[in-house]
Amino acid sequence: MNFSPSEQQEKRAAKDATSQAREDICAIGKLLYDRGYVASNDGNISVRTGENELLITPSGVSKGRMTPQMLVRCDLDGNVLQDDTSGRFPSSEIKMHLRVYRRRPDVTGVVHAHPVYATAFAILRHDLDQAYLPELVLNFGKIPVAPFAMLSTDEVPASIEPYLADYNGLLLANHGALAWGKDVWAAFDLMETIEHSAKIYKAVHDLGGGVELTGDQVEYLTNLREFYKQRAAKKQ
Ligand SMILES: [Zn+2]
Repeated sequence: MNFSPSEQQEKRAAKDATSQAREDICAIGKLLYDRGYVASNDGNISVRTGENELLITPSGVSKGRMTPQMLVRCDLDGNVLQDDTSGRFPSSEIKMHLRVYRRRPDVTGVVHAHPVYATAFAILRHDLDQAYLPELVLNFGKIPVAPFAMLSTDEVPASIEPYLADYNGLLLANHGALAWGKDVWAAFDLMETIEHSAKIYKAVHDLGGGVELTGDQVEYLTNLREFYKQRAAKKQ
């Protein structure tokens, strides 16, 4: 097969982007494991690497001990691509990732984990919605809890569907947390914010409850979020 120089450049750039994505996923897997956001083989991470292509963590592997070659290449229907060389099965929770990419073309990274405090709030079915932290209100509004869905079934993507347009992360009832972002590091950062916020909420509740921001203060932050969103949209 012959490619023109520009086609070759494009192919090389796509290949570099995919190897970078492999490294990013392994680095994030190690962070999730080292921080105790996952245990054993829990959690999954994916990166959208093309129009109809993603790279996802395999099932049955600790996220703390992955190598770049273990990651599985799939299309956006969840089929393993013919030239995938991992010899592994994609995460059993791939449907959740696919739904995010289908509904949010601006998203290229998804991270799922079971961090202790976030998962405890998910079991309490308690949104992180009290206006304690201005940065949480400004950046995310709140972190909602999606209804319970049986693992690995179509119930899971259906349960997150109502939140995809307006949020970048949520708690999965009796399960864990899910975050998505413009790239996989943004998704990881949000996972970290969710867990850190859940820890603060727990500490506040243990101390007998805190003082929330006033309605006016929340409105100010909400308007500011809208302003940033519109400014970012104009830039694109
Ligand atoms: Zn899970």
